Amino acid sequence: MRGYTIKERKCACRACGDVFFIQQVGRVPLHCADCDAEYRILKGKICNKVMRAIRDGKIKRACESFCVDCKAEGKRVRAQVLEHRSYDRPLEVVPVCRTHNYLRGPATWTPGGKKTATARRKHRTKAAA
Ligand SMILES: [Zn+2]
Ligand SMILES: [Zn+2]
Repeated sequence: MRGYTIKERKCACRACGDVFFIQQVGRVPLHCADCDAEYRILKGKICNKVMRAIRDGKIKRACESFCVDCKAEGKRVRAQVLEHRSYDRPLEVVPVCRTHNYLRGPATWTPGGKKTATARRKHRTKAAA
């Protein structure tokens, strides 16, 4: 019988740039454990902000608009989600369909606290010199 081993895979955190290893198969996580926890909280907060803005009439619901990317392709497709390009700008959203939401990929964000992406990068450059 041949043993089944899961190879460790090397991943880099999108947010802080930390390198970490995972043993799971399938989708590679976007973030290290620290950033993932922060990301989940952030997403929840942003979701609330957007909901409030919709309620106040500042932002239109996705279903009331057409997908901007489909529109660029000359198609009229009802939007299904409000897409963020950056969670650093919580109220900057565009209506897109699910396909385009997927194609656009995840939004960028800056981890707060002491480990911000820029601080880390600076630290690295110093260490390398
Ligand atoms: Zn991270
Ligand atoms: Zn679309």
